[in-house]
Amino acid sequence: MNIHEYQAKAVLGEFGVPVPKGVPAFTPDEAVKAAETLGGPVWVVKAQIHAGGRGKAGGVKVVKSLDDVRAEATRLLGSTLVTHQTGPHGKQVNRLYVEDGSAIARELYLSCLVDRATSRIAFIASTEGGMDIEEVAATTPEKIQTFHVDPAAGFSPYIGRNIAYALGLEGDQVKQCVKLIAGLYKAVEAKDMSLLEINPLIVTEAGDLLCLDAKVNFDDNALFRHKDVAELRDETEEDPKEREAKEYDLNYVALDGTIGCMVNGAGLAMATMDIIKLYGEEPANFLDVGGGATAERVTAAFKIITADPNVQGILVNIFGGIMRCDVIADGVVTAVKEVGLEVPLVVRLEGTNVAEGKKILEESGLNVIPADDLDDAAKKVVAAVKEAA
Ligand code: ADP
Ligand code: MG
Repeated sequence: MNIHEYQAKAVLGEFGVPVPKGVPAFTPDEAVKAAETLGGPVWVVKAQIHAGGRGKAGGVKVVKSLDDVRAEATRLLGSTLVTHQTGPHGKQVNRLYVEDGSAIARELYLSCLVDRATSRIAFIASTEGGMDIEEVAATTPEKIQTFHVDPAAGFSPYIGRNIAYALGLEGDQVKQCVKLIAGLYKAVEAKDMSLLEINPLIVTEAGDLLCLDAKVNFDDNALFRHKDVAELRDETEEDPKEREAKEYDLNYVALDGTIGCMVNGAGLAMATMDIIKLYGEEPANFLDVGGGATAERVTAAFKIITADPNVQGILVNIFGGIMRCDVIADGVVTAVKEVGLEVPLVVRLEGTNVAEGKKILEESGLNVIPADDLDDAAKKVVAAVKEAA
């Protein structure tokens, strides 16, 4: 789960990590009030969306008067921000963060994540902060250094010192850095974060360290033990189809193509998407209904697929194991009766209770195009979509 920058900064603040003072705002009036509370004389008005790259897209503005706070707040609220992380459709700005403006001497990069290769929490540090770290990784990878924390030993100050040296910090900044890293590590562990990115971590003109940006991802599987974190969820930032899928425990990811897929098993879902591409169309989604899906969940899955206006054809590809083909067939029939079917539907069933499943579909009177195997199914759905277009 993602949260907004201002929420991430509040969480980090609880762990003693230095962040600028700021106040969230939902209206231009609130933004001006926030600025008055902060006192100025320099403020930064920051669009709060679940995506980075806001600065370059005009979503972060340094201002020096209350009038400009109002002007930027009015301009940003309700506007759509397109950054390199939002995709071409962008994201609507519904919240702002008004923050104390900092005098920046240096911009550094710092992140912390669970490194799956080593099964350890790792810190990644670079002197090249503020800009795209992907660009730094591509052009000057030697400027990025990684530091692992041994889970048995836990965090030790020497890790913080090594990071400080890698960041070119000196004197009191080294001490500040050790404390900051210790705080970040504590936050990551205590809140089950899967990713924490501070870009930029700055050295102020006064020589102090400050986290100017904060991006946090939480491990969804650990959310049950963090009610306070779960409350930070901003559903308006999530794809409504993905949100509904989550309610039914479906593994669903919305994509940009035209063919809706309903598959059981992530591997089979990937293979299905691949073969759709091979025959010249694009999948509209990844959807794994799971091994133990009920007719109710299949119905929900089917409704989510048909609600997507980009879907011009549907491919149901089920290999019945624990999941029985007749359950899938029942779910599909129920869903079609409820929501109708305006696009071609190709169904490929195989495995447990396949005969019963096929019979249910045949007797339903629905206009289902049956397929024998994956290849046949993909060809048929692509052909049907091309024909209808
Ligand atoms: P994003 O990563 O989405 O572009 P950031 O929060 O990193 O957003 O802001 C972009 C840039 O704006 C920063 O690299 C920094 O130069 C400047 N900036 C952000 N917050 C402040 C602040 N409080 N004071 C001064 N400059 C800021
Ligand atoms: Mg940033």
